[in-house]
Amino acid sequence: MSYQHILIAIDLTEECTPVIERAVEIARSTDARISIVHVIEPMAMAFGGDVPMDLTLIQQQQFEQARAALEKLAARYPGISEQQRHLLSGQPRHEIHHLAVEQSCDLIVVGSHGRHGLALLLGSTANDLLHGAPCDVLSVRLKTSS
Ligand code: AMP
Repeated sequence: MSYQHILIAIDLTEECTPVIERAVEIARSTDARISIVHVIEPMAMAFGGDVPMDLTLIQQQQFEQARAALEKLAARYPGISEQQRHLLSGQPRHEIHHLAVEQSCDLIVVGSHGRHGLALLLGSTANDLLHGAPCDVLSVRLKTSS
């Protein structure tokens, strides 16, 4: 079975390079299209609800910085056109699954730190994405210091 449309989920750190490269490699061998996504978690969501201050300006800056970082990263890969770069806001699992369905992606590629112990209990995006995924999910093992 060959993949047609691969969605790469990235956290915009330098760690996402091996994740993108693995996806590009698979895309090349299967002649698949590639899309890339980063999800910004709204600050109120990250802090669990009520924050007694206006976060609009900070969130706008966060969005602009993420946009610039996403563009810079994606520009290194000619196979990822501007229309295929997605910057979303919300809960990563929900947004990434929704985008995968909307764009008819058949593989999501994500990094994984292979955590164990307490860190595993705290969860990871890779674990989270597996639950209820609308398509295959490949987790690319990343080097970890923990
Ligand atoms: P972590 O949950 O920090 O272990 O992240 C593991 C992987 O999940 C990263 O290498 C990315 O592939 C993906 N990821 C983490 N955060 C996000 C995010 N906000 N948006 C999209 N993908 C993400």
